[in-house]
Amino acid sequence: MAPPVFRFAPSPNGHLHLGHAFSALLNFERAQETGGRLLLRIEDIDATRCRPEYEAAIYEDLAWLGISWEMPVRRQSEHLADYRAALDRLSALGLVYPAFESRAEIAKLVAAREADGPWPRDPDGAPLYPGDARSLSADERSHLIASGAPYALRLDMQAACRHAARLSWSELGEGPDRERGTVPARPQAWGDVILARKEIPTSYHLSVVVDDALQGVSEIVRGQDLFHATSVHRLLQVLLGLGEPAYHHHRLICDGEGRKLSKSSRSTGLRDLRAAGVTPAGIRQLVGLG
Ligand code: GLU
Repeated sequence: MAPPVFRFAPSPNGHLHLGHAFSALLNFERAQETGGRLLLRIEDIDATRCRPEYEAAIYEDLAWLGISWEMPVRRQSEHLADYRAALDRLSALGLVYPAFESRAEIAKLVAAREADGPWPRDPDGAPLYPGDARSLSADERSHLIASGAPYALRLDMQAACRHAARLSWSELGEGPDRERGTVPARPQAWGDVILARKEIPTSYHLSVVVDDALQGVSEIVRGQDLFHATSVHRLLQVLLGLGEPAYHHHRLICDGEGRKLSKSSRSTGLRDLRAAGVTPAGIRQLVGLG
């Protein structure tokens, strides 16, 4: 049997903190325990926020922690053609449509809808797409696109769910409400998610699913903050005819006030802790891996 494949997939938009260290160490340990492989993927599709110096710092910090990974590293910005091909496949199924509202227009639409009561939110707390771009005619769409208007390509969630009913995934870790085992997927909770934008042929959801499949990842070890996103990932896997990895969501490392760590908080950044004399063994202790 082929060895299991794991991956750690940070975005180089800031320095790694204790939460990343925990996730990377868990992946590394799972790979070692199971005789598996550990891949590293740089999720750098957001060119406005990602920087080469952060990528260099990721390699340095992981190596300092004692983690090793297979080469070559997959850098998402170098594989846009793969994501475009997946997007074309979803478009060919009639599941993708352009929506032209700006963020400000979306906020206004949500406010208007909330006059009649609360507008549904996705599992991350963001309002579901409130617009009706799905019903624009083909002429209206081509006209708007030809005018140079910016747009987002959205998944027609209702139609997509008709292609893939009763989805679930195998949870080897635990969700925020202790979900484990076979977990039912509820992609509808996310509404018409963005799959790509005019200037970039992908999004987090699309590229993560395409890459995990192309890289043969068999067990996805990542934080519980991405537990609910797994519903969208399972849906895309089925629509794109991709295999089904197992998922292992792990607890999040929080700050003193119980908040998820952010890349801007210096007290928990690996570089700052290292500069303050904390050793790799000390980092393991701080994240409860003693
Ligand atoms: N790039 C994502 C992050 O840094 C992780 C994606 C994933 O593990 O699926 O939060």
